[in-house]
Order: sequence, then C-alpha cells, then structure tokens
Amino acid sequence: MSVLVTGGAGYIGSHMVLGLIDRGEEVIVLDNLSTGHAFCVSPHAHLVEGDIGDTALVERLIGEHKIDAIAHFAASLLVGESVREPLLYYANNTARTRDLIEVAVRAGVPHFIFSSTAAVYGMAGQEPVREDARLNPMSPYGRSKLMSEIMLEDASSAHGLGYAALRYFNVAGADPQGRSGESTFNSTHLVKIAVETVLNKRPGMQIFGTDYPTPDGTAIRDYIHVSDLIDAHIAALDHLRAGKGNLTANVGYGRGFSVREVLDVVQSTTGLPLNVTEGPRRAGDPPSIVADSDHLRQMTGWTPRYDDLPLIATHAFEWEKHLSRRNHQG
Ligand code: UDP
Repeated sequence: MSVLVTGGAGYIGSHMVLGLIDRGEEVIVLDNLSTGHAFCVSPHAHLVEGDIGDTALVERLIGEHKIDAIAHFAASLLVGESVREPLLYYANNTARTRDLIEVAVRAGVPHFIFSSTAAVYGMAGQEPVREDARLNPMSPYGRSKLMSEIMLEDASSAHGLGYAALRYFNVAGADPQGRSGESTFNSTHLVKIAVETVLNKRPGMQIFGTDYPTPDGTAIRDYIHVSDLIDAHIAALDHLRAGKGNLTANVGYGRGFSVREVLDVVQSTTGLPLNVTEGPRRAGDPPSIVADSDHLRQMTGWTPRYDDLPLIATHAFEWEKHLSRRNHQG
C-alpha cells in the first residue's frame, strides 16, 4: 500500500511526505512544480511531475502503486489573487478536486485526505471557532475549498469514499530537521515575511492594520507549526484506515497571537532588528480567528509537539537561512 500526495513539492505537502516517509510509508508525489520545488521532496519518495487534472496519469499511478489513500494538497492558495482571478481558483481548486475525487471513486481508493482551511468560516463570530460554526467564506479561495468539502461529503454518501477534511489555521515554521520549509517566492505569510525581512531579503515589512478591536490593535491568528499540522494528517489517516468514519476538523492550537506579538517573537528569537512600519488593513482580513481543536483531539488523540511560537520562529528562520545558502551556491 502507498499514499499519493498531490502537491507534495509544496510547503505543506512536502512536510506530509516527510511525515509519511518517517513512519515507513511508501509515498508517490504528484506535483506539476508550478509553485513547488523538487528539492523539497524527500529523496525517499517517488516524484512524478504532472498535473492532477491528468486523470489518466492519476489512474495509472493508483493502479501501479496500489494507492490506498490520497492526500490532496495541490491547490492555489492566495486569498487576494482569488478575488482577482476567481475562475482560476474554481478551476485549480474546485474542478481539479472534483476530477481527483472521481478518479479515487472509480479506482476504488478508500481514503481521501483534503487540505481545507479556516477561510471556510469567514467572519465566524465565534471565538474560538468550532466546526459547527456558520460557514461563510469571504473569498473565492475559501469558497473553492468549501465546495470541495461539500463534494467529498456527497461522494462519501453516494460511493462510500472515506475522507478527512482538515481546516488549517495559520501554518508556519519548518521541518525541525531542516529538510523542508516554506520556499515560496513572494509569500504573503506573516512569519515567512518576517524572517525574510530580518535577513534583509526584503527592505522592510508592514503591519496590516493597527485599529482592530484587539488588545494591541493588530489582528490575532492561531499559528500552528507545520509538523504538528502533519501529525494531524497522519492521525486522520490512521483514523480512516481504522474505519472510524469521516472527519472534518480544525487544526490549530486554540490560542491566538497578534501581529505585533509575532513580530516581537521573531526579533527576540533571531536577535536581529526588523524594519517594520504600520499600514492600513488588508482587505478581507478578519480581526481574529482562533481554532477550537477539541474535535480533532477527541477523535484522533492528536497532541501537538511544537506549540511554542519562539520555536516556530526559530525553525522558520533556520529554513530561511538554508534557502539563502542554497541560492548563493546557485
Ligand atoms: N500580516 C501583516 N503583514 C504582512 C503579512 C501579514 O500584518 O506582511 C498580517 C495579516 O494582515 C494577518 C496576519 O498577519 O492579520 C496573518 O496573515 P497571513 O497572510 O500570514 O495569514 P492569513 O491569516 O491571512 O491566512
């Protein structure tokens, strides 16, 4: 048996590959390398360069490698871009996921793990947010992911596909062993931008909004270490393989940090100054979003190992330095 990881050369997908390899699973990665990097893929996985929309290829891989689970990470993920290019998001995220689900059903793959997002909630109006909160995504990105969750639910009812949809909060950090990390050019993520800035890869950075109704006026998020996020996926996979039913669950720590707090932690852990100015709010950003992850903990026994913001910042920083050395070497 082996696991097919789509988008396995991307930030989160490449950590999933490591998590699976570390526990002795056989892993097939399907990635078109449009935003992912081959150097982030474990040498112990089998990397296939191709598109998830190529259903003949996916079907062949499933048959050849006796795939019993698909972990689907391949997606477009920039909220702002999704507002400008909604149809691109409905193609890349919703339509491609539909095709992949269809192949999974046709080929008899029993388990499907889907990377969903806290963006399915929008302004949740609940803090921390539980899975039964109102689903009101504010962007085409969030809607494209919610539609995929709905398709999974329907395909499960009709065809018996087992699935786990994990709603990520703010993923940050990098593999503690330094084997992968966020390598996206032009990232929009706070921790990544902050470590790039202390390393002078950016001239400076902005705090987007200082007039939020929060204690220090900046927005609050639940930052989770990427390796804990992957542990949640592995726990979900075990849950599905044990026949314990479908799972839709938040993945976060249940504790929020403001933008200022995150930037303070990055400065103190790296010991480097951060050139930061205050700017206006970014369109579509809610003031605060924090996960209630009790459901995941209860259903799977998931327990985080890296619930420590300075450690998250340290791992992100270490990876950023690794990228600098790589680029230097050409
Ligand atoms: N943010 C910021 N400056 C930046 C990037 C992000 O102030 O250069 C803020 C952003 O407005 C949000 C938080 O940091 O309140 C987390 O943003 P990110 O893009 O990392 O994740 P999101 O919560 O949007 O998924």
